[in-house]
Amino acid sequence: MILVFLGAPGSGKGTVSALLQDRKSFIHISSGVAFRDIAKSKDKKKDIKKLQKILNSGKLVDDDTVFKVIKAKLNEFDIIKDNIILDGFPRTMEQVKMFSYFVKENSLDDIYFINFKTTSEIIKKRISGRISCPKCGRVYNVKTLPPKKEGICDLDGTKLIRRPEDENDKVEIRLQEYYNKTAPLLDFYDNLLVNIDASKNSEEMYKELIKKIGI
Ligand SMILES: [Zn+2]
Repeated sequence: MILVFLGAPGSGKGTVSALLQDRKSFIHISSGVAFRDIAKSKDKKKDIKKLQKILNSGKLVDDDTVFKVIKAKLNEFDIIKDNIILDGFPRTMEQVKMFSYFVKENSLDDIYFINFKTTSEIIKKRISGRISCPKCGRVYNVKTLPPKKEGICDLDGTKLIRRPEDENDKVEIRLQEYYNKTAPLLDFYDNLLVNIDASKNSEEMYKELIKKIGI
């Protein structure tokens, strides 16, 4: 099964992913985490060098490169048998085309498009409490989803940080990016969308999701 998580930054995709990983053994494939991993890599291959350059410049990664990275991640798993969450891909209409082709090529049919619906006010409030693990990408919230031990990742014991892109001024830019480039995907997938009320807390969102997809 593949769950494609659609929703603005801060709509709860990361925290619901964490619950699905813990309780249903889902594999979380996040474009953000994949890119950060590559950025840290010491590999001198041309492709990697190129991607590091784009990431360091702060520019958006182009669609072809995003797809290449995601495809490589997917190839690490059994995409027919494993339960996978795709978080942050597809993010543009061009990536939708690439993904549709990939789906057809691999005869995938067990796919759900999950839409985390909420307001900008709730998103901003939620991101203000967000901390994350620089090693594995797991997201926590100081108020609503704290780690078991304060400031420490439950999974690998790494010290949690506040990501630079979660600072208030960056959140506004990311939301604009989302409304311009990603929101049109919701119209495209309209008939296939499973809508989740993302104004609720992560536990309630999780329950709504597993009920709606029947797992
Ligand atoms: Zn971690």
